[in-house]
Amino acid sequence: MTAHIYFIGAGPGDPDLLTLKAQKIIAAAEVVIYAGSLVNPAILAHARPDAEIHNSAGLNLTAQIEIMRTAAAQGKTVARLHTGDPTLYGATLEQMRELSRLDIPYSVVPGVSSAFAATAALKTELTAPGQTQTIIFTRVAGRTPVPDTERLRDLAAHRTSIVLFLSAGMVAKVVDELLAAGYPPHTPIAVVYRASWDDELVLRGTLETIAAQTESAEITHQALIIVSPVLEKNTAAADSHLYGAAFAPIARTDRPAIVALTRRGTETGLRLHRAFGDSTLYAPARFLPADPPADTEGYTLSVRQVLHRAFRRHSAMVCIMASGIVVRELAPVLRSKHTDPAVVVMDEQGRNAISLLSGHKGGANLLAQRIAQLLGGRAILTTASDGQRLPALDLLGERYGWQLEAGGDMTAVIAAMVNGEPVGVFQDGGDETWLADLPPHATRHPTGEALIAARPNAAIIVSPRILPADLRRTIARVIVYRPPVLAVGVGCNRGTPAEEIISAVTETLAQAELSPLSIVTLATIEDKADEIGLLEACRRENWRLQIFTRADIAAVKNLPNPSPWAMKALGVPGVAEPAALLAAKADTLLVEKRKFANVTVAVAQYMPGR
Ligand code: SAH
Repeated sequence: MTAHIYFIGAGPGDPDLLTLKAQKIIAAAEVVIYAGSLVNPAILAHARPDAEIHNSAGLNLTAQIEIMRTAAAQGKTVARLHTGDPTLYGATLEQMRELSRLDIPYSVVPGVSSAFAATAALKTELTAPGQTQTIIFTRVAGRTPVPDTERLRDLAAHRTSIVLFLSAGMVAKVVDELLAAGYPPHTPIAVVYRASWDDELVLRGTLETIAAQTESAEITHQALIIVSPVLEKNTAAADSHLYGAAFAPIARTDRPAIVALTRRGTETGLRLHRAFGDSTLYAPARFLPADPPADTEGYTLSVRQVLHRAFRRHSAMVCIMASGIVVRELAPVLRSKHTDPAVVVMDEQGRNAISLLSGHKGGANLLAQRIAQLLGGRAILTTASDGQRLPALDLLGERYGWQLEAGGDMTAVIAAMVNGEPVGVFQDGGDETWLADLPPHATRHPTGEALIAARPNAAIIVSPRILPADLRRTIARVIVYRPPVLAVGVGCNRGTPAEEIISAVTETLAQAELSPLSIVTLATIEDKADEIGLLEACRRENWRLQIFTRADIAAVKNLPNPSPWAMKALGVPGVAEPAALLAAKADTLLVEKRKFANVTVAVAQYMPGR
């Protein structure tokens, strides 16, 4: 293909609602730009493995155009993915204007709008003979103003089907406008949240109830409001759907509840309570120690009462007891996977953590996995599509030989992962197989800068590089792993003390913004194999020392800084640079030779698989 930008309708969310044409273009494009959380990341799986992928959420217009311009200049194809159909509230016009100005060819591929996915969820038709033959797509004014001639109260005078985009956070305003247009308060209206996604939620109500329903369900975005005469017919279904007349708002705490029943279960509960750090433990008062830890409630009630209390109060609960008890006692209070808390059951010893209820949406799968990690047990998941195999974040270091940098926030990052919050990942060194286990709410970014720009709630960094200071200012919760990927070539004069070698190495790395925790080896020439200071430095810092023969060193070609001195003294064109390259099995240096009084240092990044 040649340089071309495709504005592609990626559909409302369900990856199967992508058009074949869109899929083909995505599969061929060298560059893919997608609209953050609105486009299902599963669609990115169609992209080539080597495609350059950008999340437009962190990019302004200029940055996006720059990506397109660079790609076009290299004759590349860009797939720019928009949610739903790109021609509806797509913000494509401004991009097209810039591309026309730059003379870059582009075209538009239509998609399934969320308007149609939402109507499908309502199982109705927007045009019904005898009721209405017209649809109005509109929105209420937010940051983007709506022309005066298109006020909702005026449009509503026609009594057509109306689909409101970008207005879910302003339901009360929509209702006011419709009442002002003379709609009776019992007019049916629907809010459809994340149409066609796994966690799709349909709220049906009337002008009187819908604002409270939307607020209680905490829906502020990614939802459409639909008002139409065709909804009249469905009101009987409406009452049985999700929220009936006795709609009770739910306010739960995010702190998980741990409910124990037996003495051994209480011991396991105390262990988990300590490991969580943010839970409330409910245990029979007689099994608790005289001086129980904070946030512990000893109970004397029946287990049913305690389970029901925890169910109402918490958004997640871990029940340390037989699953039969939990199933029987909770059955009468279950309402919906969209609103019920996550429920995990666990045996007394903490060996099996079973995700019982609200596995996906409620996060019970992730919670079970987190518990398994914390207690060294097993997580048991039974949901069909299990895209939530959580990587064991705190075990990565041990598994791949990475060093965890101090000052990180492991518990908080695991919690963000477990709670399904946006997590950003940046990795530019070390084994990448763990990335396959990332859940959809974790996004890998091509650079540290892109990670910062995306502003996720938490970040995981695997890199030898020291990242910019604004990282921790922008992202509250961060862990940094240092993979063993740096080979440091060292040359030194006879009798150079260990301190001098250590400080030359650390200074070189600091200046190149590299972490010493990523050093895998020091490397030098055979003539220095018995150099006391060098051996001592490696012993103190726990560095491996690799020795290369003069012949090996002499064979390294194309050194950036050959040394006449080394040639004269040792018959080789240099020591630090070729030793670093040989140890790293690399062709280029990360840091060219730096000369200190008695020491020379060069650094290369280890290339796995060579
Ligand atoms: N071009 C898109 C609309 C983009 S504007 C389309 O054709 O669907 C973004 C708005 O679209 C959101 O505020 C929300 O109102 C709506 N939206 C996008 N995806 C949605 C979905 N899956 N379910 C409900 N509404 C959605």
